[in-house]
Amino acid sequence: MKIFIPREAEGEPRVAASPDTVKKLAGLGATIVIESGAGALSRITDEAYEAAGATIGSASDASDADVVLKVRRPSADDVATYKKGAVVIATMDPYGNDEALKTLAEAGILAFAMELMPRITRAQSMDVLSSQANLAGYQAVIDASHTFDRAFPMMMTAAGTVPAARVFVMGAGVAGLQAIATAKRLGAIVTATDVRPASKEQVESLGGKFVAVEDEEFKAAETSGGYAKEMSKAYQAKQAELVASHIAKQDIVITTALIPGRPAPKLVSKAMIESMKPGSVIVDLAVERGGNVEGAVAGEIAEVGPVRVIGHRNVPGRIAASASLLYSKNLSTFLETMIDKESKGLKIDFDDELVKATLLTRDGKVVHPNFAPKDA
Ligand code: NAD
Repeated sequence: MKIFIPREAEGEPRVAASPDTVKKLAGLGATIVIESGAGALSRITDEAYEAAGATIGSASDASDADVVLKVRRPSADDVATYKKGAVVIATMDPYGNDEALKTLAEAGILAFAMELMPRITRAQSMDVLSSQANLAGYQAVIDASHTFDRAFPMMMTAAGTVPAARVFVMGAGVAGLQAIATAKRLGAIVTATDVRPASKEQVESLGGKFVAVEDEEFKAAETSGGYAKEMSKAYQAKQAELVASHIAKQDIVITTALIPGRPAPKLVSKAMIESMKPGSVIVDLAVERGGNVEGAVAGEIAEVGPVRVIGHRNVPGRIAASASLLYSKNLSTFLETMIDKESKGLKIDFDDELVKATLLTRDGKVVHPNFAPKDA
């Protein structure tokens, strides 16, 4: 079985294999070929891959690969170079990308979308959303501290006292909780909000203070899958009022709020930003999903009134060496479940719930129930 790991396209510094995962997969009998330079932006050299048991090749190695491991969904040009029946595992960004899914299907690819991995105990080690969001939450605080012209911790010196920075985290999921932990480690005074009641205890366990409108709607605002529900207009208005008075006193705001399959909720208005002190910093981690912050621009640091609003794209890619290690491990752990230990070849159990949840295309068709054409 040949596994190929290509170099990602421009703008994606992560890579879908590490020396550790190469060693693991080679140990299961696979032949692993890495495109030369694939790990360069994650600080993994070709030599390090070779030492782990891979061979270094070129893009043309895709043509006879049984498995292609990627970070991003392959382009139509990439797909044209893959062999029929190849397994391709990546973050496929399937929502609203019907054409791309059709291309994968028509090429006879078995395309797996890692971001659809169910959030169950068995699949925790394959959860790319968590592994990458965790690092994004950390990086958001680092980016904020870099742009903020003041210190985070309180410092009492002979020359006077520097006050601690006030950090407010909006959305206390995986990214938000790591942002809270990171800001606390840097010595900030941290508050956080979320619409899921379960998050209150988690925020407090990290030393953050929870700020939210805790009414009856709030108490029922979590889906059985553990995600946020879209809140009513009335709740949003009450939440906005509370947030408005709180934000005026903050130095740093980090927003991470998402609702699966919906645009990100707008949580910070221009008027709220105008109420902040000069030099305050906002990081909008939801910017690529429509943004939580009015005036945030994807890929830019926007000046909105007295505040700089950071809207970096691909935040896990800003900490690529760590992100690649965890992402690679998520993929190799999933791939291992599809490798037959005896024959050392692929043996996919199409009834496995992990396969069912992530498989987008098979036998020339889009097979995932959420994305299959409705008239099929
Ligand atoms: P996410 O990325 O979908 O959203 C980020 C956060 O934004 C969530 O906490 C959400 O409640 C919050 N949010 C949405 N609308 C909001 C609003 N209007 N105001 C404030 N906050 C708002 O979430 P996630 O990080 O993927 O985590 C979602 C859930 O999944 C959490 O309960 C998390 O603990 C759980 N989870 C479970 C597993 C597992 O069991 N394997 C793994 C990872 C995450």
